[in-house]
Amino acid sequence: MFNKRFGFSKGDEILKEIALILCNIFPPSNSIIARFSDDNFVVLTDWATVETCIDTAQEYLYALHENVTLRLRAGIYFPSDDDDIRSSCDRAKLACDSIRKNHSVSSCMFHDGMSRELALQQYILDSLDSAMKNGNITVLYQPIVRLATGKICEAEALARWNDPEIGIISPAKFIPTLEQYREIPKLDIYAMRNVCADYKVRREAGLPLLPVSVNLSRLDFELCDIIQEIESAVSLCGIPRNMIRIEITESINDEDMTALNLGIEKFRMMGYEVWMDDFGSGYSSLNVLKDYSFDTIKFDMKFLHGFDVNKSEKAKYIISSNLEMARLMGMQALAEGVETSEQLEYLRSIGFDKAQGYYFGRPMELDDIFALERGIETAEE
Ligand code: C2E
Ligand code: MG
Ligand code: MG
Repeated sequence: MFNKRFGFSKGDEILKEIALILCNIFPPSNSIIARFSDDNFVVLTDWATVETCIDTAQEYLYALHENVTLRLRAGIYFPSDDDDIRSSCDRAKLACDSIRKNHSVSSCMFHDGMSRELALQQYILDSLDSAMKNGNITVLYQPIVRLATGKICEAEALARWNDPEIGIISPAKFIPTLEQYREIPKLDIYAMRNVCADYKVRREAGLPLLPVSVNLSRLDFELCDIIQEIESAVSLCGIPRNMIRIEITESINDEDMTALNLGIEKFRMMGYEVWMDDFGSGYSSLNVLKDYSFDTIKFDMKFLHGFDVNKSEKAKYIISSNLEMARLMGMQALAEGVETSEQLEYLRSIGFDKAQGYYFGRPMELDDIFALERGIETAEE
C-alpha cells in the first residue's frame, strides 16, 4: 500500500530506514540483521529484551512518518542447538503471520501448536494431488430450502477430505492453506467435476434433479481461466448452466477487482447464477455489494449466532434492514446456519427467500437429499 501511494523509490527508502532502526536497536556487535525478502527482515540476536526492542522499533517508525501508519510485526523464535537456520526462520515467520489480523500486538513468540499447524499445512500441500486421485476428497451436499414452500430447492456442494493417514481434515484447515499457497483452483475444479459427475449419474438414471451451488475462491479468477474450466466440466456432462450456481465469498480485496468483476459478469451473462457467500462476515461486505452484481446474497451464519427471537432486538434490526437492502437491489436473500424452528419462523416472517442449516440437514450424499421428508421442488432444466 505504501508503494502504491508514494511510489517504489519512497518504498525503498522506507526499507533502508527500517534497516537503520534495526541496526540501532539491535547492536551489530551481537546481532546479525538482514533483509529476508520484500518487507521482511530477520534479526539473529542474543538480546534478552527482544520484545521491548520491537516496541521501541515500532515507536521509531511511527515517529519517522507521522502521515502514514507503518505497523511493525515480529515473530520470535528461540532456536535450540540442533535447529537449522532455515527452519528457525520459518518458525519465526509463522509466529509473525499468526498475528497478521491482530492489530493490538506487535510481536508473538513461536509455540509448538504452530509447528503442528505448519506440519499439517505441509501435509495438505504434499498430498492434495494424491487425495484427489484416490478419492479421499469427496463432495457432500447440504439442502437449501425455499421458505415459501418449505421444500428443498437447491443444494450446496461442500468439499470433504477424509485422509487414510490422519483422518478428517476440516475445510477450515485445507481451504485457507490451499488459498495461501495458491493451489485452490485445483480443488475447486476437482469439486466441480465431481458435482457434474454426480449430477450426470442421477440424470442418466432418470431421477429427479436439483440445481447445485459450488464454492469458488476469488483466487480462481486470478490464477486460472475458471470460466473455461467450469464450462468444460459442465459441457462434458451435458449439464445446463441454469442448474449451477457459483458462490463467491465476500472477502474480496481491491487488487483483484477487475478480473473478478469481469468473471462475475461473464458467468451471469452465460446463464449461471452468481451468489455472494458469507455476507456480513468480512469488513467490506457493503462495498462488495456496491461494486459487484449478484443474484443472491447468503447471509453469514454469524447473524443467527445466539439468536433468540424474543431477545435479540439488535440482531433483528440488522437482519431485517439488510434484507430490505437486498430487496431494493433486486437480489434474493438466503440465510445460512439455521439451527432452530424459532430462527426459521422469524426468517420466514420477515420474508427471506431461502434458508440453509443443520435444522434442514447437514451436508450429505446427493441421493440422501432426495430421501428427506420435506420433499423437493421440481427443477426445470
Ligand atoms: P460456506 O460456503 O459458507 O459453507 C457453509 C459452511 O457452514 C459449511 O461448513 C457447512 O457445513 C456449515 N454449516 C451449514 N449449516 C450450518 C449450521 O446450521 N450450523 C453451523 N454451525 N454450521 C453450518 P464446511 O463444509 O466446513 O465448509 C466451510 C467453508 O469451506 C465453506 O463455507 C466454504 O467457504 C469452504 N469450502 C467448502 N468446500 C469448498 C470448495 O470446494 N471450494 C472452496 N473454494 N471452498 C470450499
Ligand atoms: Mg458456500
Ligand atoms: Mg457461507
